[in-house]
Amino acid sequence: MAKIAINIATGTLQQEEMIVGIDLGTTNSLVAIIHPESKKPVALKEHNSNSLVPSVIHFGQHDITVGNEAKQYLVSDAANTVFSAKRLMGKTYNDVKNNSTLLAYKIIDDENKLVKVQVGDIFYSPVELSSFILKELKKQAEHILKTPVGKAVITVPAYFNDAQRQATRDAGKLAGLDVLRIINEPTAASLAYGFGLNQGEQKTIAVYDLGGGTFDISILNINGGIFEVLSTNGDTYLGGDDLDAAIVDYWLAQNTFAGDESTHRQGLRLKAEEAKKYLSANGLFKTVYAGKHISLSRQQFEALIKPIIERTITSCKNALKDAGLKKNDIDEIVMVGGSTRVPLVKEMVSSFFEKKPNDTVDPDEVVALGAAIQADILAGNTTNMLLLDVTPLSLGLETMGGLMDVLLPRNSKIPAKAARQYTTYKDGQSGMKIAVYQGERDMVKDNRRLAEFNLTGIPGMPAGMPKVEISFLINADGILAVNAKELRSGVEQSIEVKPQYGLTDEDVEKMLLDSMEHAKEDMELRGLTEAKTEAEQLLQTTEKFMHKNFENLTQDEITATSLAMQALQLSLDMNDKNLVQTKTEALNEISRPYAERIMDLAIGKAMKGSKI
Ligand code: ADP
Ligand code: MG
Repeated sequence: MAKIAINIATGTLQQEEMIVGIDLGTTNSLVAIIHPESKKPVALKEHNSNSLVPSVIHFGQHDITVGNEAKQYLVSDAANTVFSAKRLMGKTYNDVKNNSTLLAYKIIDDENKLVKVQVGDIFYSPVELSSFILKELKKQAEHILKTPVGKAVITVPAYFNDAQRQATRDAGKLAGLDVLRIINEPTAASLAYGFGLNQGEQKTIAVYDLGGGTFDISILNINGGIFEVLSTNGDTYLGGDDLDAAIVDYWLAQNTFAGDESTHRQGLRLKAEEAKKYLSANGLFKTVYAGKHISLSRQQFEALIKPIIERTITSCKNALKDAGLKKNDIDEIVMVGGSTRVPLVKEMVSSFFEKKPNDTVDPDEVVALGAAIQADILAGNTTNMLLLDVTPLSLGLETMGGLMDVLLPRNSKIPAKAARQYTTYKDGQSGMKIAVYQGERDMVKDNRRLAEFNLTGIPGMPAGMPKVEISFLINADGILAVNAKELRSGVEQSIEVKPQYGLTDEDVEKMLLDSMEHAKEDMELRGLTEAKTEAEQLLQTTEKFMHKNFENLTQDEITATSLAMQALQLSLDMNDKNLVQTKTEALNEISRPYAERIMDLAIGKAMKGSKI
């Protein structure tokens, strides 16, 4: 492997390979690395500029720009300027349609298909949009570091599902990055504070992240270097933008400006953001807008935003409840996101948890800094640590009768692996359908199908002979690889699950609630389905057996068996589990004696023929 000389500011240092940490944010994105000399994480920035790159893409006549330049077009060329693309990652039109009015650009109305954004007459997927941002970050990092940047750790919200993580990984690939790992933003933020870096440490951490357009609260448990997400909560449409909007509304109510209100709204929005930031450190903001003196005091500001912050506290309560914890179980609170600079936010969080939050690391940079620490761990520069998450829903396969056979139960710690053996139920069956589902219900039809493929080319064997081992492997990014192998012949096939469409927090919640609500009927249905499957198999084998051994059966045996088979067949249509089981047992009772007799006969014959 080629050694790369990296040069940060003036220092030169040899390093095996450069792995960067990237916070791909809804509003702002940035890159961080471990400084080769100080060994401390630092955010990359061009001279006299800020480390934050606005997550905005402008599609101009001749070129595509990203970041600060693109941000200038948000108002003047809104139709060609895309922001908050992260909210669309792994989502279908149906997932986002209720909020589409909040987006200034055009979203394609195609029910169950993944969302696409239309700019001019070109359609862009959220993956492509995110890749533009990542490309820009890569370019800027290479310019600052004066070395190629090929490998990265990218952060995502803890609630991102498989599809959204996969989409983020794909965006990285498209941007020419080798994405070594996708890690959770709250995990990264905790790492930046050094939590979890000591092997023996056990801590429960609440990560409060109030960004530009989203709010997340995550409760993590760290034990011996292992991070586990206990619960997440939040609101994908709650953030600094709402604080700005509250100020604009207030000013519009206080003053009468001549002309079009929506034009004023846009003009005042920038003033509002300025006021908000100013008031984080001062008592009174004054400015002139459209020839009028407008002002806002810290007191007025706080009164305006209190109800908004209140909503984040409700989410905190819910997150604690879901994690089964009380306030005083929380050892540390970590503040993340530009909006946590607002003093009232800190006060309200602190008074809710009755504990002072950790706010010494720059809240804009904290996630990227943590990603850089994880990158350093992957580069082998820090003690080997695993960052663990759990699966939000169970993963399993469809088996006979449409039943869900769970291989990895919900809340399995990832990375995780599970394998189970299956067999064919028809003679000479050469293929096996492998359908992967996610969810808590007993019947696959009530769960969410992730993928389906056929294991083909199984050599002809009697039913029950092939041994097909199916294994599930979820890697540390939460991406599922399914492998199916027929052990006798070695025939093998595998897929990586790229789910068709996204799943929101609410979906997960709904699936869990549904499974609880239907627990009893599901259990009954499972019992019935299992009994019916067994009965159907018995009917098949009995029929085959009778056909093959017709000569060795007495008339009475044939009559009794036929009657028992008819009775069993009838019970199948009546959907009564107990009846099916009774009739199955009855058929077994009748066939057992002659089956044994014929088996003995066959063994005797075989023995006779063999020479010892
Ligand atoms: P995201 O994680 O969603 O990309 P950020 O963490 O970068 O977002 O937060 C951006 C938000 O932080 C914006 O709404 C911005 O106005 C707000 N913000 C930045 N600095 C301050 C400040 N000093 N006071 C209040 N809000 C701030
Ligand atoms: Mg963020």
